[in-house]
Amino acid sequence: MRKESSRMDLQDLYQQTLLDHGKRPRNFGPLPEATHRAEGYNPMCGDEVRLALLVEGDVVREARFEGCGCAISQASASMMTQAVKGQTVVHARELFDRFHAVVVRGEDEASDDDLGPLDCLTGVRQYPNRIKCATLAWHALKDALEGERA
Ligand code: ZN
Repeated sequence: MRKESSRMDLQDLYQQTLLDHGKRPRNFGPLPEATHRAEGYNPMCGDEVRLALLVEGDVVREARFEGCGCAISQASASMMTQAVKGQTVVHARELFDRFHAVVVRGEDEASDDDLGPLDCLTGVRQYPNRIKCATLAWHALKDALEGERA
């Protein structure tokens, strides 16, 4: 069980990570050689994410996004692209499933350290109206992997 104080420290750290990604998103920009693309729009907040993946064999070689929106949506897209880059398609789908289970269905992430840095996004489940901001890029990932055309 976590003590209240360390939980606060952790949330501070998470918030800093989130703000940092929101301000300076990683993997932001076009990917002309993409093999898979998908777009997401969150009308509740006005967030837009356009995701591009370069998949070779069963590995996500490159992941980039463009778009605009609130800090959470941009940070989420930034972290998601970092998380799936270099991973197999199967693992990328698993990450989506896990992220979705924790954030949307509220399953406990404590026993699951595979989310790693993405953990800091799971805090948004305390704010139901921001959940769509955090999941937008992930749904784009799922759509992109399911679509076969660029
Ligand atoms: Zn948003």
